[in-house]
Amino acid sequence: MSDYDNRDTEVLDEGEEKKESGADGTSEDRNEKEYEDVCFICRRPESKTGKMFRLPNNISVCNDCMHKTMDTVSQFDYQGMLDSPAFQQDLEDLSKKGMPHIRFVNISDLQGEGGIPNKQKLKKKKSGEKAKPVLNIRDIPAPHKIKASLDEYVVGQEHAKKVISVAVYNHYKRVATDTMDEIEIEKSNMLMIGPTGCGKTYLVKTLARLLDVPLAIADATSLTEAGYIGDDIESVVSKLLAAADNDVERAERGIIFIDEIDKIAKKKNTTSRDVSGESVQQGMLKLLEGAEVEVPVGANSKNAMVPLATINTRNILFICGGAFPDLEEIIKERLSKQSSIGFNAQLKDYFDKDKNLLSKVTVEDIRKFGMIPEFIGRLPILYTLEGLSREMMVKILKEPKNAILKQYQKLLELDEVKLEFTDGALEAIAEKAMKRETGARALRSIIEEFMLDIMYEIPKDDNIGRVTITKEYIEGTGGPIIDIRNSMAVSPDRLPVLAENA
Ligand code: ADP
Repeated sequence: MSDYDNRDTEVLDEGEEKKESGADGTSEDRNEKEYEDVCFICRRPESKTGKMFRLPNNISVCNDCMHKTMDTVSQFDYQGMLDSPAFQQDLEDLSKKGMPHIRFVNISDLQGEGGIPNKQKLKKKKSGEKAKPVLNIRDIPAPHKIKASLDEYVVGQEHAKKVISVAVYNHYKRVATDTMDEIEIEKSNMLMIGPTGCGKTYLVKTLARLLDVPLAIADATSLTEAGYIGDDIESVVSKLLAAADNDVERAERGIIFIDEIDKIAKKKNTTSRDVSGESVQQGMLKLLEGAEVEVPVGANSKNAMVPLATINTRNILFICGGAFPDLEEIIKERLSKQSSIGFNAQLKDYFDKDKNLLSKVTVEDIRKFGMIPEFIGRLPILYTLEGLSREMMVKILKEPKNAILKQYQKLLELDEVKLEFTDGALEAIAEKAMKRETGARALRSIIEEFMLDIMYEIPKDDNIGRVTITKEYIEGTGGPIIDIRNSMAVSPDRLPVLAENA
């Protein structure tokens, strides 16, 4: 037997005291004690079932299930079996052969390799009053500090950043203080509206990273009423639990971002049951407000084989986002109707020129769009993000901490090559991105197109010290400027592919 085999048996013999090795190997490092055991039969966690029986191979069985099993076993007619002539004959045959024949069921066969996977275990709730709160009221950064951190990553969207900073500050203050005399502070769930690619998801992701809270991002289009094809509404909470490493306490203070929320607007003129529109809004009401939900651990759907965890959504911050196409029409209609009474009547076309039309949105407009009043009522903070202008696109290219240009510059720096973009080139890229109408998302794909040849050709020649991307290269009328180390500029025909593009 090899050393490895020896080690394996040792782990099996010592049972649960040893760390089990997960399929990915990372769970080995986790402190097992922080995770709760789950009953092998009914799948409830130890906090629900009470103290469990520990069997070899990391199997735990709760008191109830153990008793049920014992009852079943004791009802079995052993005596009848032992007395039967066939059994007696078997025993005689066996004793003649001199070998035992009866084999007990090997429990490790039942459970497959590696025992219960760690991803299905629940992290224990910290007990006792002394448990330190995850977020201390003194640790919550002030709104201006949250905004300053967001500024480092997110370009523009000043209003949105301000609103979100204040809302988050209030939310976590509410979470940290827990009780506030008789005055219950309302939850700061948010509804953010903005065209695609303007940074809605990015803003929330950045925020969650800065605050170090778990974040789940879900798409409203995939959600359906429980029991229909698609994800149950509660699956978003399950995702959050996974993002929090199955730590219920951490998940209960996380953020859930539901994108494409406009897609669950009430369907107009339908006769069939609206399982993915209005019913999803209805189903989300209790989550938004705060409810105890039972979610599967380590899986997307509830079934007999997955343990369940109870999560309270009271302190989970919900942020819904969507592009709400045609909302502008609704706003325009309302504004023109308002102004048509009286002397300064405005024609509907007057508002066509208004670039900030979306920011004039009201709850009433959203309701007209197809969101039910109860749903809107549970998202008290409503704000809009602006569509990106060409100047903002240029800034997004070069200014954020992890800007795309900085990433490429860093990559080439490793080859000791300096990468530069002329202002004209940046504007040309922004111009191209504007035409695609997918917001800042287009920037990356455009840059990648142009950088492919550069990234392919540059490492071939050790003499290249600097590459300058020009407007002509982006527009397809010229090539980049290549500088040789300690020498003057050379024409792009040193690099055949780049010259071809020119
Ligand atoms: P959406 O509004 O459709 O959710 P995203 O937030 O996913 O758009 O934006 C796509 C990408 O564009 C982000 O990953 C980010 O890199 C970039 N981006 C968009 N808006 C901004 C912004 N205001 N500042 C910096 N980067 C941005």
